[in-house]
Amino acid sequence: MFASRLDRARALMADQSVDVLMLSVGADLPYFCGYEAMPLERLTMLVVPRDGEATLVVPRMEAPRVVERPEVFGMRPWDETEDPVDIVTRLAGSASVAAVGDHMWSRFLVELMGAMPDAVWRRGSDVTAPIRSVKTADEIERLRAAAAAVDRIAGRLQRGEIELLGLTEAEVSAELGRQILAEGHDRVNFAIVAAGANAASPHHEPGPRIVGPDEVVLCDFGGTMVGDDGVGYCSDITRCVYTGEPPSEFDELYGVLFEAQAAGVAAAAAGTPAQDVDRAARSIIAAAGYGDYFVHRTGHGIGTEAHEDPYIVEGNDQPLAAGNAFSVEPGIYVPGRWGARLEDIVAISPAGPDPLNRADHHLAVVA
Ligand code: ZN
Ligand code: ZN
Ligand code: ZN
Repeated sequence: MFASRLDRARALMADQSVDVLMLSVGADLPYFCGYEAMPLERLTMLVVPRDGEATLVVPRMEAPRVVERPEVFGMRPWDETEDPVDIVTRLAGSASVAAVGDHMWSRFLVELMGAMPDAVWRRGSDVTAPIRSVKTADEIERLRAAAAAVDRIAGRLQRGEIELLGLTEAEVSAELGRQILAEGHDRVNFAIVAAGANAASPHHEPGPRIVGPDEVVLCDFGGTMVGDDGVGYCSDITRCVYTGEPPSEFDELYGVLFEAQAAGVAAAAAGTPAQDVDRAARSIIAAAGYGDYFVHRTGHGIGTEAHEDPYIVEGNDQPLAAGNAFSVEPGIYVPGRWGARLEDIVAISPAGPDPLNRADHHLAVVA
């Protein structure tokens, strides 16, 4: 699997005249070699010349953590007194176009630019995103398993089995985090809990506010499930509940959101420009008069990273392809008052949209 991914990367490098691909911290490295770099100041880097063997340059003290795959990459552990940038530069040889992973520390890129003064630098995602964004059947099943896990948590939330009233947002968030791990994830990526007016802030940081009666509670949570091969896949879901009978005004707002989200999902088909999914959802929200309250794109790709290509946003006219997986998550945010978002992960199958999240989409009343 890793070898065939690198083969595809080399084919794209040839298309784009990239001589060497350098991957460091971030999701590219485990995707292409099964090893995730510690986010440290010591350099870890997979150096992939277009026409040569890939080499993992790794601090010697981290080398024992690497599952060696000689058919995929060679190892070059470096000692504390060696200069890893010099090692990478020599492995890159006479490369004149280098693509570097988007999450590489800038300190290493700055040093590499100094050591390879004539090279042209490109974003690693130019090479990696077209590969990572088209999932195999196995990857879709891993995303489906992660989605099913957070669906079970959403179900408990909607049935009132997760305590809300009298707890702080931060306490509810911590409980969601515990359940994310208990449901088989290896990492919690986020657990937004936003009550009442806080729900008008899309990326609200859960805090000391206590959840009271008769208010909306927006929960957006997800984690990463790491497989035996060292590659992790992410979940991401948003559901809202109301701690009491919602006023008709909120019911109406949520009804619009419900329709918009369903329209976005229904539009998610192979060949459709990504922006058309955004338009399908946004046009319903705009027609209902809430257009100014939908302040973000409709979605983001998901896979080994919680946010990756393709982005479901106006201006992205790239046609969607079978194997893409992304969120459809419109929201309506009325500052100072309340807000709501409804989010599923949707994969594109040749037959059309394949929603991976199945938790109920209605506004649940919990009291
Ligand atoms: Zn978000
Ligand atoms: Zn989310
Ligand atoms: Zn999301």
